[in-house]
Amino acid sequence: MPARAPPRTVHAPSTPAPRRPPMPVAASPSDAFVSVFDLFKIGIGPSSSHTVGPMIAARQFARRLQAAPGRAAPGWSAVHGVRAELFGSLSATGLGHGTDRAVLLGLAGYEPDTVDPEAIAPAIAAIRATQQLALLGQHPIRFVEKDHLLMRRKSLPLHPNGMRFAALGADGEELLAAEFYSVGGGFVIDAAGTRVLNETAEGTAPAGDAPVSTAAPPYPFGSGAELLAQCAASGLSIAGLMAANEAARRSPEAVRRQLLAIWQTMAGCVARGCSATGHLPGRMQLRRRAAELKSSLSSHPEAALRDPLSMLDWVNLYAMAVNEENAAGGRVVTAPTNGAAGVIPAVLHYYRNFIPGATEQGIVDFLLTAGAIGILYKKNASLSGAEVGCQGEVGVACSMAAGALAAVLGGTPAQVENAAEIGMEHNLGMTCDPVGGLVQIPCIERNAMGAIKAINAARLALRGDGRHEVSLDQVIRTMVQTGADMKSRYKETSRGGLAVNVIEC
Ligand code: SF4
Repeated sequence: MPARAPPRTVHAPSTPAPRRPPMPVAASPSDAFVSVFDLFKIGIGPSSSHTVGPMIAARQFARRLQAAPGRAAPGWSAVHGVRAELFGSLSATGLGHGTDRAVLLGLAGYEPDTVDPEAIAPAIAAIRATQQLALLGQHPIRFVEKDHLLMRRKSLPLHPNGMRFAALGADGEELLAAEFYSVGGGFVIDAAGTRVLNETAEGTAPAGDAPVSTAAPPYPFGSGAELLAQCAASGLSIAGLMAANEAARRSPEAVRRQLLAIWQTMAGCVARGCSATGHLPGRMQLRRRAAELKSSLSSHPEAALRDPLSMLDWVNLYAMAVNEENAAGGRVVTAPTNGAAGVIPAVLHYYRNFIPGATEQGIVDFLLTAGAIGILYKKNASLSGAEVGCQGEVGVACSMAAGALAAVLGGTPAQVENAAEIGMEHNLGMTCDPVGGLVQIPCIERNAMGAIKAINAARLALRGDGRHEVSLDQVIRTMVQTGADMKSRYKETSRGGLAVNVIEC
């Protein structure tokens, strides 16, 4: 009997209202609420951990210096300088990843989600030319990069991506100091392990439809098994469950609006990447390839008719377009990181452009499902190449995209979990060894490979009935252990792998 074909029908949309009451789930230490919008954040390239996170940390440090009622701060008038120290992986690959520029921008008050990518180069050039930096755009200090931005090879205790900022008085004495860690995907924690949010001047969380409540989600989950159990008990899809959890903090309309804004930003990034030509920044002067590929694919439609696999070329194109934009410092969405930002947009474009009956609701459900899977990695593993290698970046993105695609193609929660598991299982052990410390080789093509692998993982899962030998929780655990066993030279330090075997021109 022929095998059952993968469903081609459009899935049922996420159900906003629960059909059955939430199942109580034992609280675990990893139960802190993580939102889909923590995973999909609008930022700039080339790296969420090395660009977005340090920019947030630097800006938050500058905010702490402002005198305010009840706040132990020196106040602007006492601050004559700031010293920033970058440790571990931030020091090893920070220059290639733009960490130096991110720190300057953050101190000057720029935010990753709102800074105009076109304004970055002139802002940095002005600071370097004048050796003056206006903290938060308000308080000018002398800032000489060779004295005030220091690279330290050793690591701080909590994570390989450590930073230390110190405010300096008139005689160079330290007035206030703080350590931060950029732990992957744009997440920042302080020395106490507390999450540091990108507070705006108004003291609110991210711009737009900010959360209006801190209510606990109705369907908490800390593992894949708990997620499946919540789906089974409530009768909800994974997307429906995530929609209900998000609606505990924002209105359902705001959740949808923000998800569609994320999608529009991803689509804009693909479009820009498909038209930009020239070379990427950095010593390698890598040629941008997406525009050429787009032109070749568009101008030979008859070749596509003859080639049943031509769809793969388009998926490759979408992913490479995003990651070339990212490498160029353009506007991207962390998904869940910048280095892996191309996988999910590529698979979403595949869904929208190649799946008959694709809908806007499908895009919303895709992002919600991908978010649920990403939360499992955020809570139980890592999204940081500096901590677990590229399995934590492109591997996680592949897993998220595989599960999400399976969901919008009609998969059951068990098939979605299976697809996500396959997506990671075959990325286990993947190292992070960026050539020249740049997020270019192997990162750009790796996203194309991750997207294709995600599509295949979804198809494999949809050919089955959800039963499988390796659970998503087991593969996540394996990924953590594999990352711990990996030598640091393969964890975003550019001291091993391709980084030492490919000669930079
Ligand atoms: S190799 Fe992977 S983890 Fe490392 S910088 Fe590139 S995309 Fe990120």
